[in-house]
Amino acid sequence: MSILVVGSVAFDTVETPFGHAERVLGGSASFFSVAASYFSPVNLVGVVGDDFGEEHLGAFRGRAIDLRGLERIEGKTFHWQGRYSLDLNSRDTIRTDLNVFELFQPKIPAAYRGSEVVFLGNIDPVLQRQVLAQVERPRVVACDTMNFWIHGKPAEVKETLRKVQILLINDQEARELSGEWSLVKAARAIRAMGPGTLVVKKGEHGVLMFDEAGMFAAPALPLERVFDPTGAGDTFAGGFLGYLASTGETGDAALRRAVIMGSTMASFCVEAFSLDRLLELDRPSIDARYREFERLTRFESL
Ligand code: AMP
Repeated sequence: MSILVVGSVAFDTVETPFGHAERVLGGSASFFSVAASYFSPVNLVGVVGDDFGEEHLGAFRGRAIDLRGLERIEGKTFHWQGRYSLDLNSRDTIRTDLNVFELFQPKIPAAYRGSEVVFLGNIDPVLQRQVLAQVERPRVVACDTMNFWIHGKPAEVKETLRKVQILLINDQEARELSGEWSLVKAARAIRAMGPGTLVVKKGEHGVLMFDEAGMFAAPALPLERVFDPTGAGDTFAGGFLGYLASTGETGDAALRRAVIMGSTMASFCVEAFSLDRLLELDRPSIDARYREFERLTRFESL
């Protein structure tokens, strides 16, 4: 099944305790698309400025990523700058230059309208619904959002959630959206808003999924080298939905494998700046790391 993704395509400037990267390729749709394209064809919708050249597009070329929905307009590409704490668990946004992203009006090319899976990246919830209205009959609609929208446009976020089957957010966002501290209670409240499946991302502490079958937990893979967590959440979403789309299944067993595949892809993402590590993968190395997760979490019955 093909996946339509809408989100940011960006230049990121990132400082971590291990180094500094200046104006490298980033953005939620970029991380998502490259991760998902290892499993299923991706239809990318986004906007870049005239400073986004062929050398940057090169990251997407030669992969199962359709770029007809990536608009290039006069002006500068969205730029985000962030700095991570010593333990990499928190980050400060130093600047956000929306540039061409400020007036982004997503247009869905006719060739994309039959996409079976839709991922509404973290953009204005009103725009998320506009995207959805242009897709014919998606089988799965998944969505991301952030505190900025949960606080700024709560009614619009809730209206979008009524049309979504899978919500992927972090633990803090789940608590703020539901007003509940317990993630179990938060999940009950959020699932009542629309999404039958809630995936809560907890950074180095892994992922919790809540669906009709109950609860599923996956750790993050303990790694020798963690370099830059930027994009890990979007990469998780790309691996999760890309894998799910490749199976054509939506039941609990497939969702659980998708959580592990999302975690597998995110574990690669953090090993280098930007998309550098994601771009050099192949299916055998991805599958080998999936098996590391299996070994990490397997235990016998009593
Ligand atoms: P993550 O680490 O998964 O939260 O994603 C980080 C990516 O999100 C970076 O590559 C940024 O370019 C992008 N980003 C940061 N702020 C925003 C924003 N306000 N809207 C859209 N994308 C953003």
